[in-house]
Amino acid sequence: MSTKQISKNKKSQKSSNLDRTADLAINNLFRSIDSRCTGYITPKQFWKEMAKGGILKTDPRLQKVNDELEGLNNAAGQEHKIYLDEFKRIIGHYIIVKKCLTGDMAIPDFNSLTKKIVDIYKETKPNSGGHVADYIPQLARVNPEFYGVAVCSVDGQRFGHGDYEQKFCLQSTCKPINYCIAHKELGADKVHNHIGREPSGRSFNEMALNGDGLPHNPLINSGAIMCTSLIQRKLEIADRFDHVLKTWNDLSGDVAPTFNNSVYLSEKQTADRNFALAYFMRENNAFPENTNIIETLEFYFQCCSIEVTAAAMASVAGTLANGGVNPLTGKKVFDAATVKNCLSLMNSCGMYDFSGEFAFTIGFPAKSGVSGALLVVIPNVMGIALWSPRLDELGNSVRGVEFCKKLVEHYSFHNYDILVNNGAKIDPRKKKYESKIDNVIALIWAGSVGDIDEIQRLEALGVDLEAADYDGRTAIHLAASEGQLETVKYLVTKKVNISPIDRWGGTPIKDAKKGKHTELVEFLEKVSIG
Ligand code: GLU
Repeated sequence: MSTKQISKNKKSQKSSNLDRTADLAINNLFRSIDSRCTGYITPKQFWKEMAKGGILKTDPRLQKVNDELEGLNNAAGQEHKIYLDEFKRIIGHYIIVKKCLTGDMAIPDFNSLTKKIVDIYKETKPNSGGHVADYIPQLARVNPEFYGVAVCSVDGQRFGHGDYEQKFCLQSTCKPINYCIAHKELGADKVHNHIGREPSGRSFNEMALNGDGLPHNPLINSGAIMCTSLIQRKLEIADRFDHVLKTWNDLSGDVAPTFNNSVYLSEKQTADRNFALAYFMRENNAFPENTNIIETLEFYFQCCSIEVTAAAMASVAGTLANGGVNPLTGKKVFDAATVKNCLSLMNSCGMYDFSGEFAFTIGFPAKSGVSGALLVVIPNVMGIALWSPRLDELGNSVRGVEFCKKLVEHYSFHNYDILVNNGAKIDPRKKKYESKIDNVIALIWAGSVGDIDEIQRLEALGVDLEAADYDGRTAIHLAASEGQLETVKYLVTKKVNISPIDRWGGTPIKDAKKGKHTELVEFLEKVSIG
Protein backbone atom coordinates (compact mmCIF):
# COMPACT_ATOMS: atom_id res chain seq x y z
CA MET A 1 0.00 0.00 0.00
CA SER A 2 1.34 3.47 -0.85
CA THR A 3 1.97 6.05 1.91
CA LYS A 4 -0.73 8.21 0.36
CA GLN A 5 -3.22 5.37 0.68
CA ILE A 6 -2.22 4.68 4.30
CA SER A 7 -2.73 8.27 5.32
CA LYS A 8 -6.04 8.34 3.45
CA ASN A 9 -7.16 5.23 5.33
CA LYS A 10 -6.01 6.71 8.61
CA LYS A 11 -7.98 9.88 7.91
CA SER A 12 -11.17 8.05 7.06
CA GLN A 13 -10.76 5.85 10.14
CA LYS A 14 -10.36 8.96 12.26
CA SER A 15 -13.44 10.61 10.80
CA SER A 16 -15.51 7.45 11.16
CA ASN A 17 -14.44 7.33 14.83
CA LEU A 18 -15.58 10.90 15.21
CA ASP A 19 -18.86 10.04 13.47
CA ARG A 20 -19.37 7.16 15.86
CA THR A 21 -18.75 9.38 18.91
CA ALA A 22 -21.13 12.00 17.57
CA ASP A 23 -23.69 9.31 16.84
CA LEU A 24 -23.41 7.97 20.35
CA ALA A 25 -23.83 11.45 21.77
CA ILE A 26 -27.01 11.98 19.73
CA ASN A 27 -28.38 8.63 20.94
CA ASN A 28 -27.76 9.78 24.50
CA LEU A 29 -29.56 13.06 23.89
CA PHE A 30 -32.50 11.19 22.44
CA ARG A 31 -32.61 8.82 25.40
CA SER A 32 -32.49 11.69 27.86
CA ILE A 33 -35.74 13.03 26.37
CA ASP A 34 -37.36 9.64 25.96
CA SER A 35 -37.69 9.27 29.70
CA ARG A 36 -40.37 6.58 29.43
CA CYS A 37 -38.24 4.50 27.04
CA THR A 38 -40.92 4.32 24.38
CA GLY A 39 -38.43 4.54 21.53
CA TYR A 40 -39.89 7.81 20.30
CA ILE A 41 -40.34 11.37 21.52
CA THR A 42 -42.93 14.00 20.62
CA PRO A 43 -42.16 17.59 19.59
CA LYS A 44 -43.92 18.72 22.77
CA GLN A 45 -41.63 16.58 24.88
CA PHE A 46 -38.63 17.91 23.00
CA TRP A 47 -39.55 21.57 23.51
CA LYS A 48 -40.44 20.95 27.15
CA GLU A 49 -36.97 19.55 27.85
CA MET A 50 -35.35 22.40 25.93
CA ALA A 51 -37.40 25.00 27.85
CA LYS A 52 -36.09 23.57 31.12
CA GLY A 53 -32.63 24.51 29.89
CA GLY A 54 -33.92 27.91 28.74
CA ILE A 55 -34.11 27.34 25.00
CA LEU A 56 -37.52 28.29 23.67
CA LYS A 57 -39.43 27.16 20.64
CA THR A 58 -39.23 30.70 19.29
CA ASP A 59 -35.42 30.75 19.46
CA PRO A 60 -34.20 32.09 16.10
CA ARG A 61 -31.32 29.58 16.20
CA LEU A 62 -33.79 26.69 16.08
CA GLN A 63 -36.30 28.19 13.68
CA LYS A 64 -35.63 25.51 11.05
CA VAL A 65 -36.16 22.73 13.60
CA ASN A 66 -39.37 24.35 14.78
CA ASP A 67 -40.68 24.78 11.22
CA GLU A 68 -39.94 21.19 10.39
CA LEU A 69 -41.52 19.81 13.56
CA GLU A 70 -44.61 21.99 13.09
CA GLY A 71 -44.93 20.61 9.56
CA LEU A 72 -44.80 17.04 10.84
CA ASN A 73 -47.49 17.74 13.43
CA ASN A 74 -49.84 19.17 10.87
CA ALA A 75 -49.38 16.38 8.40
CA ALA A 76 -50.17 13.75 10.99
CA GLY A 77 -53.08 15.70 12.48
CA GLN A 78 -51.77 14.89 15.91
CA GLU A 79 -48.52 14.98 17.84
CA HIS A 80 -45.91 13.41 15.66
CA LYS A 81 -43.77 10.59 16.97
CA ILE A 82 -40.13 11.30 16.39
CA TYR A 83 -38.01 8.14 16.25
CA LEU A 84 -34.26 8.16 16.61
CA ASP A 85 -33.55 8.39 12.85
CA GLU A 86 -35.75 11.42 12.44
CA PHE A 87 -34.29 12.98 15.57
CA LYS A 88 -30.83 12.56 14.07
CA ARG A 89 -31.92 14.08 10.77
CA ILE A 90 -33.83 17.09 12.11
CA ILE A 91 -32.46 17.95 15.52
CA GLY A 92 -29.51 15.98 16.76
CA HIS A 93 -26.68 17.83 15.06
CA TYR A 94 -27.58 21.25 16.51
CA ILE A 95 -24.86 22.16 18.99
CA ILE A 96 -27.30 24.25 20.99
CA VAL A 97 -29.55 21.21 21.53
CA LYS A 98 -26.62 19.26 22.84
CA LYS A 99 -25.45 22.10 25.07
CA CYS A 100 -28.93 22.67 26.43
CA LEU A 101 -29.71 19.04 27.20
CA THR A 102 -26.34 18.34 28.76
CA GLY A 103 -26.42 21.45 30.97
CA ASP A 104 -23.44 22.96 29.20
CA MET A 105 -24.80 26.49 28.87
CA ALA A 106 -23.96 29.77 30.61
CA ILE A 107 -26.45 28.90 33.35
CA PRO A 108 -26.22 25.12 33.59
CA ASP A 109 -29.04 24.64 36.08
CA PHE A 110 -31.45 27.05 34.45
CA ASN A 111 -34.42 25.26 35.96
CA SER A 112 -33.36 26.17 39.50
CA LEU A 113 -32.83 29.78 38.48
CA THR A 114 -36.31 30.07 37.01
CA LYS A 115 -37.82 28.53 40.15
CA LYS A 116 -36.05 31.10 42.28
CA ILE A 117 -37.22 33.89 40.01
CA VAL A 118 -40.81 32.73 40.39
CA ASP A 119 -40.35 32.55 44.18
CA ILE A 120 -39.02 36.09 44.35
CA TYR A 121 -41.79 37.25 42.04
CA LYS A 122 -44.40 35.74 44.36
CA GLU A 123 -42.76 37.26 47.44
CA THR A 124 -42.66 40.74 45.89
CA LYS A 125 -46.02 40.72 44.13
CA PRO A 126 -48.07 41.62 47.25
CA ASN A 127 -46.02 44.81 47.63
CA SER A 128 -48.46 47.48 46.51
CA GLY A 129 -46.38 50.43 47.72
CA GLY A 130 -45.83 53.47 45.52
CA HIS A 131 -47.85 55.09 42.75
CA VAL A 132 -47.92 54.96 38.97
CA ALA A 133 -46.45 58.00 37.23
CA ASP A 134 -49.22 60.46 36.48
CA TYR A 135 -47.54 63.31 34.64
CA ILE A 136 -49.13 62.00 31.44
CA PRO A 137 -52.55 60.27 31.20
CA GLN A 138 -51.13 57.33 29.24
CA LEU A 139 -48.97 56.34 32.20
CA ALA A 140 -51.56 57.27 34.82
CA ARG A 141 -54.02 54.87 33.18
CA VAL A 142 -51.74 51.81 33.23
CA ASN A 143 -53.01 49.04 35.48
CA PRO A 144 -50.80 49.33 38.58
CA GLU A 145 -51.09 45.61 39.20
CA PHE A 146 -49.10 44.65 36.11
CA TYR A 147 -45.92 42.83 37.03
CA GLY A 148 -43.65 40.99 34.65
CA VAL A 149 -40.14 39.60 34.81
CA ALA A 150 -38.01 38.05 32.11
CA VAL A 151 -34.42 36.89 31.81
CA CYS A 152 -32.07 36.12 28.94
CA SER A 153 -28.67 34.56 29.58
CA VAL A 154 -25.56 35.23 27.55
CA ASP A 155 -26.27 31.91 25.84
CA GLY A 156 -29.82 32.97 24.97
CA GLN A 157 -31.55 30.93 27.69
CA ARG A 158 -34.86 32.66 28.30
CA PHE A 159 -37.67 32.65 30.79
CA GLY A 160 -40.54 34.97 31.58
CA HIS A 161 -43.14 35.12 34.32
CA GLY A 162 -46.23 37.21 35.04
CA ASP A 163 -47.02 40.00 32.58
CA TYR A 164 -43.82 39.58 30.63
CA GLU A 165 -45.58 39.71 27.29
CA GLN A 166 -47.38 43.02 27.94
CA LYS A 167 -45.97 46.07 26.22
CA PHE A 168 -44.81 49.14 28.13
CA CYS A 169 -42.96 52.26 27.04
CA LEU A 170 -39.24 52.61 27.54
CA GLN A 171 -39.14 56.04 29.13
CA SER A 172 -35.71 56.41 30.72
CA THR A 173 -34.62 52.91 29.81
CA CYS A 174 -34.01 54.32 26.31
CA LYS A 175 -31.16 56.38 27.75
CA PRO A 176 -28.43 53.73 28.07
CA ILE A 177 -29.19 52.45 24.58
CA ASN A 178 -29.08 55.91 23.04
CA TYR A 179 -25.75 56.38 24.76
CA CYS A 180 -24.47 53.14 23.20
CA ILE A 181 -25.77 54.18 19.77
CA ALA A 182 -24.00 57.55 19.94
CA HIS A 183 -20.87 55.92 21.40
CA LYS A 184 -20.76 53.34 18.63
CA GLU A 185 -21.06 56.04 16.00
CA LEU A 186 -18.72 58.66 17.42
CA GLY A 187 -16.53 56.99 20.05
CA ALA A 188 -16.21 57.85 23.73
CA ASP A 189 -14.19 61.05 23.32
CA LYS A 190 -16.58 62.79 20.97
CA VAL A 191 -19.61 61.80 23.03
CA HIS A 192 -18.01 62.98 26.24
CA ASN A 193 -17.07 66.31 24.65
CA HIS A 194 -20.75 67.02 25.15
CA ILE A 195 -21.72 64.97 28.22
CA GLY A 196 -19.99 64.25 31.50
CA ARG A 197 -19.84 60.90 33.26
CA GLU A 198 -20.36 61.81 36.90
CA PRO A 199 -23.47 61.15 38.93
CA SER A 200 -25.13 64.53 39.34
CA GLY A 201 -26.22 63.92 42.91
CA ARG A 202 -29.37 65.80 41.95
CA SER A 203 -32.77 64.98 40.61
CA PHE A 204 -32.97 63.47 37.09
CA ASN A 205 -34.45 66.61 35.52
CA GLU A 206 -32.69 69.25 37.56
CA MET A 207 -31.65 72.48 35.82
CA ALA A 208 -27.98 71.97 36.46
CA LEU A 209 -24.85 71.45 34.41
CA ASN A 210 -21.39 70.41 35.51
CA GLY A 211 -18.36 72.67 35.88
CA ASP A 212 -17.74 72.49 32.12
CA GLY A 213 -21.26 73.61 31.33
CA LEU A 214 -22.22 70.10 30.18
CA PRO A 215 -24.91 67.71 31.41
CA HIS A 216 -23.54 65.52 34.19
CA ASN A 217 -24.13 62.14 32.51
CA PRO A 218 -26.15 60.50 29.71
CA LEU A 219 -28.66 58.88 32.06
CA ILE A 220 -30.33 62.00 33.37
CA ASN A 221 -32.66 64.05 31.17
CA SER A 222 -30.26 66.76 30.08
CA GLY A 223 -27.60 64.19 29.18
CA ALA A 224 -30.10 62.00 27.41
CA ILE A 225 -31.36 64.91 25.31
CA MET A 226 -27.75 65.71 24.45
CA CYS A 227 -27.07 62.09 23.55
CA THR A 228 -30.08 61.98 21.26
CA SER A 229 -28.81 65.09 19.49
CA LEU A 230 -25.60 63.23 18.63
CA ILE A 231 -27.21 60.26 16.89
CA GLN A 232 -26.92 60.17 13.07
CA ARG A 233 -26.96 63.94 12.70
CA LYS A 234 -26.55 63.80 8.93
CA LEU A 235 -29.77 61.85 8.39
CA GLU A 236 -33.32 63.10 8.12
CA ILE A 237 -35.14 62.94 11.44
CA ALA A 238 -37.38 60.05 10.29
CA ASP A 239 -34.32 58.02 9.40
CA ARG A 240 -32.69 58.88 12.70
CA PHE A 241 -35.67 57.46 14.52
CA ASP A 242 -35.65 54.38 12.27
CA HIS A 243 -32.01 53.92 13.18
CA VAL A 244 -32.85 53.83 16.90
CA LEU A 245 -35.83 51.54 16.38
CA LYS A 246 -33.77 49.20 14.23
CA THR A 247 -31.14 49.04 16.98
CA TRP A 248 -33.82 48.05 19.49
CA ASN A 249 -34.90 45.42 17.01
CA ASP A 250 -31.37 44.09 16.74
CA LEU A 251 -31.04 44.02 20.51
CA SER A 252 -34.35 42.29 21.14
CA GLY A 253 -35.03 38.68 20.54
CA ASP A 254 -38.05 37.75 18.53
CA VAL A 255 -40.56 40.38 19.73
CA ALA A 256 -40.25 43.53 17.67
CA PRO A 257 -40.41 46.87 19.48
CA THR A 258 -43.23 49.23 18.50
CA PHE A 259 -44.04 52.91 18.91
CA ASN A 260 -46.78 54.42 21.08
CA ASN A 261 -47.88 57.62 19.41
CA SER A 262 -50.17 58.80 22.21
CA VAL A 263 -47.36 58.52 24.74
CA TYR A 264 -45.20 60.56 22.38
CA LEU A 265 -47.84 63.27 21.93
CA SER A 266 -48.42 63.48 25.68
CA GLU A 267 -44.70 63.61 26.42
CA LYS A 268 -44.33 66.46 23.98
CA GLN A 269 -47.22 68.36 25.51
CA THR A 270 -45.98 68.13 29.09
CA ALA A 271 -42.31 68.71 28.42
CA ASP A 272 -41.71 72.22 29.69
CA ARG A 273 -38.84 71.09 31.87
CA ASN A 274 -37.17 69.19 29.02
CA PHE A 275 -37.53 72.22 26.74
CA ALA A 276 -36.06 74.39 29.47
CA LEU A 277 -33.15 71.98 29.91
CA ALA A 278 -32.42 71.98 26.19
CA TYR A 279 -32.43 75.78 25.98
CA PHE A 280 -30.29 75.98 29.09
CA MET A 281 -27.76 73.67 27.44
CA ARG A 282 -27.89 75.71 24.24
CA GLU A 283 -27.24 78.88 26.21
CA ASN A 284 -24.11 77.16 27.57
CA ASN A 285 -22.98 76.08 24.07
CA ALA A 286 -23.15 72.45 25.09
CA PHE A 287 -24.69 71.16 21.84
CA PRO A 288 -22.76 70.56 18.65
CA GLU A 289 -23.12 73.43 16.18
CA ASN A 290 -26.36 73.59 14.18
CA THR A 291 -28.40 71.46 16.54
CA ASN A 292 -32.10 71.80 15.96
CA ILE A 293 -33.48 71.92 19.49
CA ILE A 294 -37.11 71.19 18.68
CA GLU A 295 -36.22 68.27 16.43
CA THR A 296 -33.86 66.90 19.07
CA LEU A 297 -36.48 67.08 21.81
CA GLU A 298 -39.09 65.42 19.64
CA PHE A 299 -36.61 62.70 18.77
CA TYR A 300 -35.92 62.18 22.47
CA PHE A 301 -39.66 61.95 23.29
CA GLN A 302 -40.06 59.44 20.47
CA CYS A 303 -37.31 57.28 21.92
CA CYS A 304 -39.06 57.36 25.33
CA SER A 305 -42.26 56.23 23.57
CA ILE A 306 -40.88 53.05 22.04
CA GLU A 307 -42.66 50.05 23.50
CA VAL A 308 -41.29 46.61 24.30
CA THR A 309 -42.27 43.62 26.38
CA ALA A 310 -40.23 42.47 29.37
CA ALA A 311 -39.31 39.43 27.26
CA ALA A 312 -37.81 41.68 24.59
CA MET A 313 -36.12 43.95 27.11
CA ALA A 314 -34.51 40.91 28.73
CA SER A 315 -32.86 40.11 25.38
CA VAL A 316 -31.66 43.73 25.17
CA ALA A 317 -30.17 43.41 28.66
CA GLY A 318 -28.81 39.95 27.75
CA THR A 319 -27.03 41.49 24.75
CA LEU A 320 -25.39 44.05 27.04
CA ALA A 321 -24.47 41.27 29.47
CA ASN A 322 -22.89 39.50 26.50
CA GLY A 323 -20.66 42.47 25.60
CA GLY A 324 -22.90 43.73 22.79
CA VAL A 325 -23.50 40.50 20.87
CA ASN A 326 -27.12 39.40 20.76
CA PRO A 327 -27.06 35.86 22.18
CA LEU A 328 -30.08 34.82 20.13
CA THR A 329 -28.96 36.00 16.73
CA GLY A 330 -25.20 36.21 17.14
CA LYS A 331 -25.33 39.76 15.77
CA LYS A 332 -22.79 42.17 17.16
CA VAL A 333 -24.87 45.24 17.91
CA PHE A 334 -22.30 47.17 19.95
CA ASP A 335 -18.67 46.54 20.62
CA ALA A 336 -17.56 45.52 24.08
CA ALA A 337 -15.84 48.84 24.83
CA THR A 338 -19.11 50.70 24.23
CA VAL A 339 -20.99 48.33 26.50
CA LYS A 340 -18.34 48.60 29.19
CA ASN A 341 -18.70 52.38 29.30
CA CYS A 342 -22.48 52.13 29.32
CA LEU A 343 -22.51 49.64 32.20
CA SER A 344 -20.13 51.80 34.20
CA LEU A 345 -22.59 54.66 33.88
CA MET A 346 -25.58 52.46 34.68
CA ASN A 347 -23.73 51.34 37.76
CA SER A 348 -23.17 54.85 39.05
CA CYS A 349 -26.13 56.79 37.63
CA GLY A 350 -28.86 54.36 36.52
CA MET A 351 -31.34 54.55 39.38
CA TYR A 352 -32.10 58.25 39.77
CA ASP A 353 -31.31 59.51 43.29
CA PHE A 354 -31.10 55.96 44.55
CA SER A 355 -28.08 55.17 42.36
CA GLY A 356 -25.46 55.28 45.11
CA GLU A 357 -27.56 53.21 47.48
CA PHE A 358 -28.40 50.73 44.72
CA ALA A 359 -24.71 50.36 43.79
CA PHE A 360 -23.85 49.87 47.45
CA THR A 361 -26.48 47.37 48.53
CA ILE A 362 -27.38 45.64 45.27
CA GLY A 363 -24.32 46.26 43.19
CA PHE A 364 -25.10 45.56 39.55
CA PRO A 365 -25.73 47.90 36.63
CA ALA A 366 -29.36 48.82 36.10
CA LYS A 367 -31.51 51.52 34.56
CA SER A 368 -35.05 52.35 35.54
CA GLY A 369 -37.75 54.36 33.82
CA VAL A 370 -40.95 56.03 35.01
CA SER A 371 -43.08 53.46 33.21
CA GLY A 372 -41.96 51.07 35.95
CA ALA A 373 -39.39 49.39 33.71
CA LEU A 374 -36.09 48.19 35.10
CA LEU A 375 -33.30 46.96 32.86
CA VAL A 376 -30.72 44.93 34.75
CA VAL A 377 -27.41 43.61 33.47
CA ILE A 378 -25.41 40.88 35.20
CA PRO A 379 -22.25 40.98 33.06
CA ASN A 380 -21.27 37.65 31.53
CA VAL A 381 -24.34 35.99 33.03
CA MET A 382 -27.65 37.41 31.91
CA GLY A 383 -29.97 40.32 31.40
CA ILE A 384 -33.12 40.81 33.44
CA ALA A 385 -36.12 42.97 32.67
CA LEU A 386 -38.63 43.87 35.34
CA TRP A 387 -41.78 45.83 34.84
CA SER A 388 -44.14 46.96 37.57
CA PRO A 389 -45.61 50.46 37.18
CA ARG A 390 -45.87 51.60 40.80
CA LEU A 391 -42.93 53.88 41.60
CA ASP A 392 -41.33 55.02 44.83
CA GLU A 393 -40.76 58.69 45.53
CA LEU A 394 -37.46 58.60 43.62
CA GLY A 395 -39.07 57.24 40.46
CA ASN A 396 -37.95 53.60 40.65
CA SER A 397 -40.30 50.64 40.38
CA VAL A 398 -41.09 49.55 43.94
CA ARG A 399 -41.39 45.87 43.18
CA GLY A 400 -38.47 46.08 40.75
CA VAL A 401 -36.11 47.33 43.44
CA GLU A 402 -37.40 44.83 45.98
CA PHE A 403 -36.93 42.04 43.44
CA CYS A 404 -33.30 43.10 42.91
CA LYS A 405 -32.66 43.16 46.66
CA LYS A 406 -33.93 39.64 47.08
CA LEU A 407 -32.10 38.45 44.00
CA VAL A 408 -28.76 39.61 45.32
CA GLU A 409 -29.42 38.07 48.73
CA HIS A 410 -29.54 34.70 47.00
CA TYR A 411 -27.11 35.03 44.08
CA SER A 412 -23.57 36.37 44.05
CA PHE A 413 -24.48 39.18 41.63
CA HIS A 414 -23.14 42.16 43.56
CA ASN A 415 -20.03 43.52 41.81
CA TYR A 416 -17.92 42.73 44.85
CA ASP A 417 -19.51 39.51 46.05
CA ILE A 418 -16.41 37.90 44.64
CA LEU A 419 -14.51 39.15 47.71
CA VAL A 420 -16.83 37.89 50.38
CA ASN A 421 -18.76 35.04 48.89
CA ASN A 422 -18.34 32.02 51.11
CA GLY A 423 -20.48 29.67 49.11
CA ALA A 424 -23.61 30.86 50.91
CA LYS A 425 -24.66 32.79 47.81
CA ILE A 426 -25.20 30.89 44.63
CA ASP A 427 -23.26 31.47 41.43
CA PRO A 428 -25.62 30.27 38.71
CA ARG A 429 -22.78 29.96 36.21
CA LYS A 430 -21.64 26.93 38.11
CA LYS A 431 -23.10 23.52 37.73
CA LYS A 432 -25.45 22.40 40.49
CA TYR A 433 -23.51 21.91 43.74
CA GLU A 434 -20.31 23.01 42.01
CA SER A 435 -19.62 26.09 44.17
CA LYS A 436 -20.14 24.16 47.37
CA ILE A 437 -18.11 21.20 46.15
CA ASP A 438 -15.34 23.49 44.82
CA ASN A 439 -14.70 24.92 48.27
CA VAL A 440 -14.75 21.55 50.02
CA ILE A 441 -12.40 20.00 47.47
CA ALA A 442 -10.06 22.99 47.72
CA LEU A 443 -10.03 22.68 51.52
CA ILE A 444 -9.31 18.97 51.53
CA TRP A 445 -6.64 19.37 48.87
CA ALA A 446 -5.02 22.18 50.87
CA GLY A 447 -5.01 19.83 53.90
CA SER A 448 -3.26 17.09 51.98
CA VAL A 449 -0.49 19.32 50.65
CA GLY A 450 -0.14 21.30 53.87
CA ASP A 451 -1.15 24.63 52.36
CA ILE A 452 -2.13 26.58 55.47
CA ASP A 453 -2.42 29.86 53.53
CA GLU A 454 -5.09 28.33 51.34
CA ILE A 455 -6.90 26.93 54.37
CA GLN A 456 -6.88 30.40 55.87
CA ARG A 457 -8.25 31.90 52.67
CA LEU A 458 -11.09 29.40 52.60
CA GLU A 459 -11.72 30.03 56.25
CA ALA A 460 -11.92 33.74 55.45
CA LEU A 461 -14.57 32.92 52.91
CA GLY A 462 -16.52 31.24 55.68
CA VAL A 463 -15.90 27.66 54.57
CA ASP A 464 -16.48 25.18 57.39
CA LEU A 465 -13.06 23.64 58.21
CA GLU A 466 -14.78 20.39 59.20
CA ALA A 467 -16.51 20.12 55.82
CA ALA A 468 -16.32 16.58 54.42
CA ASP A 469 -16.48 15.26 50.89
CA TYR A 470 -18.83 12.55 49.67
CA ASP A 471 -16.70 9.91 51.38
CA GLY A 472 -16.67 11.74 54.68
CA ARG A 473 -13.02 12.71 54.24
CA THR A 474 -12.04 16.03 55.82
CA ALA A 475 -9.01 18.31 55.69
CA ILE A 476 -7.62 16.84 58.93
CA HIS A 477 -7.97 13.28 57.54
CA LEU A 478 -5.94 14.20 54.52
CA ALA A 479 -3.39 16.24 56.41
CA ALA A 480 -2.87 13.35 58.89
CA SER A 481 -2.58 10.77 56.20
CA GLU A 482 0.04 12.84 54.31
CA GLY A 483 2.02 13.65 57.47
CA GLN A 484 1.30 17.39 57.36
CA LEU A 485 2.02 17.99 61.06
CA GLU A 486 1.88 21.81 60.93
CA THR A 487 -1.44 21.70 59.13
CA VAL A 488 -2.89 19.25 61.62
CA LYS A 489 -1.68 21.52 64.43
CA TYR A 490 -3.31 24.47 62.71
CA LEU A 491 -6.61 22.65 62.34
CA VAL A 492 -6.49 21.55 65.96
CA THR A 493 -5.98 25.18 66.95
CA LYS A 494 -9.09 25.91 65.00
CA LYS A 495 -10.88 23.41 67.22
CA VAL A 496 -11.96 21.10 64.44
CA ASN A 497 -13.15 17.67 65.47
CA ILE A 498 -9.94 15.57 65.63
CA SER A 499 -11.65 12.24 65.17
CA PRO A 500 -14.18 12.58 62.36
CA ILE A 501 -15.08 9.22 60.88
CA ASP A 502 -15.04 8.67 57.13
CA ARG A 503 -17.25 6.22 55.28
CA TRP A 504 -14.78 3.40 55.84
CA GLY A 505 -14.54 4.09 59.57
CA GLY A 506 -11.20 5.88 59.17
CA THR A 507 -10.05 8.62 61.55
CA PRO A 508 -7.05 11.00 61.33
CA ILE A 509 -5.13 8.99 63.93
CA LYS A 510 -5.66 5.77 61.99
CA ASP A 511 -4.58 7.58 58.80
CA ALA A 512 -1.43 8.91 60.49
CA LYS A 513 -0.59 5.43 61.81
CA LYS A 514 -1.10 3.92 58.40
CA GLY A 515 1.29 6.49 56.96
CA LYS A 516 3.78 5.84 59.78
CA HIS A 517 3.85 9.51 60.75
CA THR A 518 4.95 8.88 64.35
CA GLU A 519 5.29 12.46 65.48
CA LEU A 520 1.83 13.23 64.17
CA VAL A 521 0.35 10.15 65.85
CA GLU A 522 1.87 11.21 69.17
CA PHE A 523 0.54 14.72 68.74
CA LEU A 524 -2.99 13.56 67.99
CA GLU A 525 -2.93 11.07 70.88
CA LYS A 526 -1.81 13.81 73.23
CA VAL A 527 -4.54 16.16 72.06
CA SER A 528 -7.21 13.51 72.33
CA ILE A 529 -6.25 12.74 75.94
CA GLY A 530 -6.67 16.46 76.50
N1 GLU B 1 -40.10 60.97 29.34
C1 GLU B 1 -39.62 61.24 30.61
C2 GLU B 1 -38.91 62.57 30.66
O1 GLU B 1 -38.03 62.80 29.88
C3 GLU B 1 -38.68 60.14 31.02
C4 GLU B 1 -38.67 60.11 32.44
C5 GLU B 1 -38.00 58.92 33.02
O2 GLU B 1 -38.34 57.75 32.73
O3 GLU B 1 -37.12 59.19 33.83
O4 GLU B 1 -39.23 63.40 31.47
